[in-house]
Amino acid sequence: MKVIADLHTHTLASVHAYSSVSENAKAAFEQGLSVLGITDHAPCLPDGVHELHFMNYHVLPQGMFGVRMLYGSELNILDYEGAIDLNETLHKRMDICIASFHEFTLSPGSQKDNMGAYLGAMQNPYVDIIGHPDDGKIPVDFKVLAREAKNMDVMLEVNNSSLKVAHYRLNTRENMITMLGYCARYGTLVALGSDAHYHGAIGQFDEVLALIREIDFPEELIVNTSIEKIMKQLGKRHPHLVV
Ligand SMILES: [Zn+2]
Ligand SMILES: [Zn+2]
Repeated sequence: MKVIADLHTHTLASVHAYSSVSENAKAAFEQGLSVLGITDHAPCLPDGVHELHFMNYHVLPQGMFGVRMLYGSELNILDYEGAIDLNETLHKRMDICIASFHEFTLSPGSQKDNMGAYLGAMQNPYVDIIGHPDDGKIPVDFKVLAREAKNMDVMLEVNNSSLKVAHYRLNTRENMITMLGYCARYGTLVALGSDAHYHGAIGQFDEVLALIREIDFPEELIVNTSIEKIMKQLGKRHPHLVV
């Protein structure tokens, strides 16, 4: 299986990340990727990016170093009903929207609370991917998560940083195995993301790919394997996208 896209990366616009858009794009090219998602943190994270940043994405080129660039955001889930930050005008202009549960913007609740947050976010018409739903500190029902993601045609993320930097999210490996088992059962599409906060991590999927091989997860359920597949899926919520 060849991974041709990294759909979750950060630039120094998010203050706790350290590389520029150009550095990320060049790293993607050097890693042999065809598609790169730039998904900086939305404003509600303590060092999230101001909305003007997202408003001005149109000045950036669609292609850099031969890599198709997708400009979007990693949105914060803000309550147990699944509200997210940024307004609809901005959501509409994005190429890609990831919605993530961050403890900085929402305290983990009961499994029921957390599921409310995730299922509510999935109902947002612009959310393509649920980011890193793998942290044991934020308990969820993976069976319902994978089933409803399939029903709502939202992708679940398999986040390489969650496996690599194992100290800040809990039981990620076990949780991913459980989640992917249900994704395989229900036919839920997954998106691979490095969650790079430095260009050296762009396109680094060693941990995720080892896990996927280990459990023999079906390749057809991984969106990152072709540009057509990615554009078709993202184009459902962002119709301005063309291959
Ligand atoms: Zn995140
Ligand atoms: Zn991230």
